[in-house]
Amino acid sequence: LPLPLNPNMFANNPLDRAGRLRTDEEGLAAARKAGGALVLPFFKGRPFTLAGQGGMPGELGWLRTGLLDDLTRRGAVEIFLGLEKGQARFALDVGILGDPEQQGPLAGLGTFADLRPLAASLPGGDAAMCAQAKAMLEWHATHGFCARCGDRSQVAEAGWKRICTACGGEHFPRTDPVVIMLATRGDLALVGRGKAFPPGMFSALAGFVEPGETIEEAVARELEEEAGIRVSSVSYHSTQPWPFPMSLMIGCHAEAETADITLDESELAEARWESRANLAAVLAGSKDHGFWLPPPLAIAHQIIKAWVNAG
Ligand SMILES: [Zn+2]
Repeated sequence: LPLPLNPNMFANNPLDRAGRLRTDEEGLAAARKAGGALVLPFFKGRPFTLAGQGGMPGELGWLRTGLLDDLTRRGAVEIFLGLEKGQARFALDVGILGDPEQQGPLAGLGTFADLRPLAASLPGGDAAMCAQAKAMLEWHATHGFCARCGDRSQVAEAGWKRICTACGGEHFPRTDPVVIMLATRGDLALVGRGKAFPPGMFSALAGFVEPGETIEEAVARELEEEAGIRVSSVSYHSTQPWPFPMSLMIGCHAEAETADITLDESELAEARWESRANLAAVLAGSKDHGFWLPPPLAIAHQIIKAWVNAG
């Protein structure tokens, strides 16, 4: 069944995740050895890129799996990402190498690049696979010990599980849901500046969904807490995998029923209502309005754009 095209960076992952292979050791080993199988190395959360023009990162450094067999034998964490047109794709954390750009099997072949600036220059499918791989490898890098008994846990099921041999505990990769919402009132939309934002940048407000809370409740609570705004309805726009480190951004629009802003100064430096016309001009590149909005990479950009275009 074709899925609707999602406007967000890191969405539209082309892989068949082929979950059945995660527990099929023989089948997975055969897929890993097959001619078209490829692995993407990561170092400290950065994907490997082949040297591009002028020393800039070029295309992603997908390599033959056999090239890195020695690292997997030495215990480097490898994740089975899925099948691309029937061919297996893996991600490998090469953190056991101290300086993989200079030593070992990758020396001189390319560089490890920060995914955030890199993503915009990648084909969409590659960005989505990087997001999947980065979130998974960061989960392993920060969840080496059993949360039940504290013993060291082991990678299982091609990277999709950790098990604790001491207590039998099973642990699964986490995704942290975050709501990000544009509250609107007629022809005005609420934008705010987080305390850590670069100067002049305004965005939609956002916050983590809490246990026992629906998406709509989280949207309403965050708007009330951060800006003192009450809403009468919430509608869903789209989601975005956000591997910094392992979130799922849930983009929404909300109808505000109040207009007076009461700022939570521990979260926000400023919040204000901006007109649809101003937001449209800033999205189109205008620098005459004293603020700017996040780039297309961010779901905030997409939910603001969707509302501007609907007017
Ligand atoms: Zn345990």
